[in-house]
Parts: sequence; C-alpha cells; structure tokens
Amino acid sequence: MSFPAPSRLRLDGEALVNNWKAMARLSGIAGTGAAVKADAYGLGARHVVPRLWEAGCRDFFVAHWAEAEAIADLIPPSNISVLNGVNADEFALARSMGAVPVLNTPGQIMAWRNAGGGRCHVMVDSGMNRLGLGPEQVSAQLFDGLEVDILMSHLASADEDVEQNAMQLGRFKELSSAISAERKSLANSAGVVLGPDYHFDLTRPGIALYGAAVVENLAEAIHAVVRIEARILQVRHLGAGEPVGYNASWQTQQPTTLITVAYGYADGYARAFANCGTVIVNGHICPVVGRVSMDLITIAVGKDQAPEEGDWVEIGFDLQAASQASGISPYELLTKLGNRSERLWA
Ligand SMILES: *Cc1c(COP(=O)(O)O)cnc(C)c1O
Repeated sequence: MSFPAPSRLRLDGEALVNNWKAMARLSGIAGTGAAVKADAYGLGARHVVPRLWEAGCRDFFVAHWAEAEAIADLIPPSNISVLNGVNADEFALARSMGAVPVLNTPGQIMAWRNAGGGRCHVMVDSGMNRLGLGPEQVSAQLFDGLEVDILMSHLASADEDVEQNAMQLGRFKELSSAISAERKSLANSAGVVLGPDYHFDLTRPGIALYGAAVVENLAEAIHAVVRIEARILQVRHLGAGEPVGYNASWQTQQPTTLITVAYGYADGYARAFANCGTVIVNGHICPVVGRVSMDLITIAVGKDQAPEEGDWVEIGFDLQAASQASGISPYELLTKLGNRSERLWA
C-alpha cells in the first residue's frame, strides 16, 4: 500500500532543454556546458543530465565526487568535471571513476601530477577570492607537464553592471595567456549575457537552465521548470477580527474565506514567505497570510474562488518574484525543495 504524496513538483523537461538551448544560442560560437551540482540545483541530476546530454550538452559540472558517481552510469564519466577538486583520500577512487577534477590549489596540482597526472581542469581566481589558484600562485613550473583541458575562472558579480566584471575578464585573460590549456571558460548564466568577450571556448550556465532569469535580459528566453502543487486540507469562513496562525501575525479585516494547504517549511517553503507568499487558487493569485508552519500554510481567498477541501492549488514559485518577495536567492529556493513531494517529470 502506498499513500499519495500531499504535494507534488511538476518538472518540465522540455522547458529545461529549451533553457539550455537558449543559453547555447546566447553563447554564440562557444560550447555550452551545464552546472548540475547539488543534484542539479535540487531538481534531480539523474533526470536533468540525460535530457541535456540528448540536447547536445557535453560538459557537466558537479561539486563533489559522490555527485559525479551518482550520474557516472548515465553519461561517459570523462564528460563530468568535479569543481571542488580532489583530496588525497579521494585520488584512487577518482582516477578509477574517470571524472575529471578541477584542480584548485598548488597542492592539488602537485598531488595530481605525482599520482600520474592525465587530463585535468584548473580553476584560477580572477578576483572573487573564493576558490582557485591566486595569481601569485601561478608559475610555469607548477604547470610543467600538466595536461590541462579547461582553464576556468568564476565571476563574482556577473548579475550586476559593475567594474568587477571587466576587471576579472582582464585578469583571466592575463592568467590564461601564461597557461596552456585546451579550452578556456569563464561565464556562468549571468556571465553569458555579458557578451562574447566573456564566452571563451565554453560557458557554464546553471541557474538559468532551471528557470531563473537572474538578469533582466534573460527574462524572455528562460522559462519555469518547476511548478509546485499542494492540497487544500480545510476551508473556513471567518468573521472580521480573527487571528490566523502562530503568534497571530495576521488578522482578518473583514469576513474572509481561509484555506489551509498541506505545504510548509518542512517541504522547503521558507518561513520568509509568511505574509508575502502567494498561492494560485482556481487561476487567482491569493496571499499567504500568517506564519508558515512546519507542514501547513494558510491563504486568504476571494469570494468567487470556491475552493474545496481536497482540491489542488499551485504554490506561487516564479523564481524571480518569489525571490524578491522572500529575500531568498533563487539558488536557495531551488536547492531547499523537499523530498516529501512527489516529483513528476513531463
Ligand atoms: C555553480 C557554478 C556555475 C553555474 O553558475 P550559475 O550562476 O548557476 O549559472 C558555473 N561555474 C562554477 C565554477 C560554479 O560553481
């Protein structure tokens, strides 16, 4: 016996593929990879990766070796790159699996060469100061005999029109002229929109593939991949002056139809949506009122919507709008989606 899940994520494979194709078009003559770390930003790497492979994507980026292992039976492991590098205790397994490490430190580069070398990628830090070789760590000696496929760097502020972008571009060009590599790569999703100067040989979009138009110029090309549906547990008609939810953070101002829906922060719906989230009931956008509970939210609906107990409603999850309302980044909204929902790929 198995009970139906109280909520479901509808995942749109066609939108995913179209988003990748849109990023590939915007990448011009550069190749276009895909960041599929964190289980493809929470959507499920085992569903995302084969669809993008089929669409023509050949460079997949994960953060950890376990994430590479989780998809290594779906595509050739040599098409998977591991962004967080490789530790001494991961070497043996890493080499036998055949995914490619992104080496981030002089120590990792030396250890890789000592372990026999072979194809690798290298991350240089062009000004984000997060991960990768600093300019002061780059030397001809360090790279001697190293078989670098992708030399990459990462942009800190590609979603903003700031000088840091041109500064990083300049530093990446300088660094990359000193290091020989098969391919060069700099741009994430927002970086693609900065234009051809930023594309080099390969772009590495992530968040845009999953439906977030992180910069305005992407709004037309990028479409939602995730929709969330949950069930109405109860419908009540309250008079004016009634408090709703924990700590009475909202009160009815007038007679109000209130619905209680089986979705809450245990499903990944953040407490920040209290009194600012939305739910779509029979085509109408209705406000989440009161606090978010662990497994429940309460919504005030208009007179005409006639919701019924047991009906399905859609949680407002337009990534840009939800991000603005809650102050939570689209990356966090997606990666926190819970496993309690049924996941339906179309
Ligand atoms: C996550 C990541 C990306 C993708 O970034 P988005 O902003 O999601 O497009 C690209 N490159 C590196 C190194 C990353 O860590």
